[in-house]
Amino acid sequence: MIHMENVVKTYKVARRNAGAKAAFRALFRREYELIRALSGISFTIEDGEMVALLGPNGAGKSTTIKILSGILYPDSGRVECNGFVPYKDRMRYTREIGVVFGQRSQLFWDVPVADSFELLRDIYDIPEADFRKNEAELTELLQLQEILRTPARQLSLGQRMRCEIAGSLLHSPKILFLDEPTIGLDAVSKLALRQFVKNLNEEKKTTVILTTHDMQDVEALSKRVIMIGKGKLLLDGTIDDIRKEGESLDESLVEFYEGIDGMTGKEEEQP
Ligand code: ADP
Ligand code: MG
Repeated sequence: MIHMENVVKTYKVARRNAGAKAAFRALFRREYELIRALSGISFTIEDGEMVALLGPNGAGKSTTIKILSGILYPDSGRVECNGFVPYKDRMRYTREIGVVFGQRSQLFWDVPVADSFELLRDIYDIPEADFRKNEAELTELLQLQEILRTPARQLSLGQRMRCEIAGSLLHSPKILFLDEPTIGLDAVSKLALRQFVKNLNEEKKTTVILTTHDMQDVEALSKRVIMIGKGKLLLDGTIDDIRKEGESLDESLVEFYEGIDGMTGKEEEQP
């Protein structure tokens, strides 16, 4: 079970105005700006569920995934995943989870993908037999036969995503976090990836939490959608709660945002 309660996260960034004078002054007095990424997010996800976190850029989706996967700690609030507090029990907790960030690679750039997998085997200390079995199965399902000997650097985005997902599943995690897995993919790759994730959830009962700003992803993949905007939870329900009759998914989404104060229109000034 995954549980977040009233989770708040603020980033502290050094602020400096342009110009030599400001640069000089910054040497002596650092000014910080606080960016509130999450302002009190709560939800519970049961084992075996597949849930989409939907929201526009900057909503707080990646921050949520980073907190759930133990990469970041929250300012306040409670986080518990399968009995672990992610940012505290990192060593043991990482064996429970797989994480893929669409915009960042866990593969070693200059070595063949198969060698990256071997390194992941060492990192996760996966027993040889389990590793061989999982690698063979994932290679088959994600059609990696032709690309396993290719360095990650030379792969297309679609090929790389397939390898990333395989890499994140070699240790048979119970929970899979996918942060924008379909971003930038062509239509064929998107379909294949969605199909794979759907099967994984249905057959292996892996809990899947994915982020996206694509309504089509949500429609294809999950019954449950948690929508966030500006660090707040806007909706925890189904796609039908967003969909307006007679309108396209995208139009429905825009209308949904328009119904919420401050979600569209003029950018607010940061306090
Ligand atoms: P999303 O994944 O939904 O696009 P993020 O969680 O990445 O949103 O970002 C939420 C907010 O936090 C945004 O305003 C973003 O600019 C800010 N933010 C994210 N990461 C950092 C960081 N490392 N430092 C400062 N601000 C950040
Ligand atoms: Mg993001």
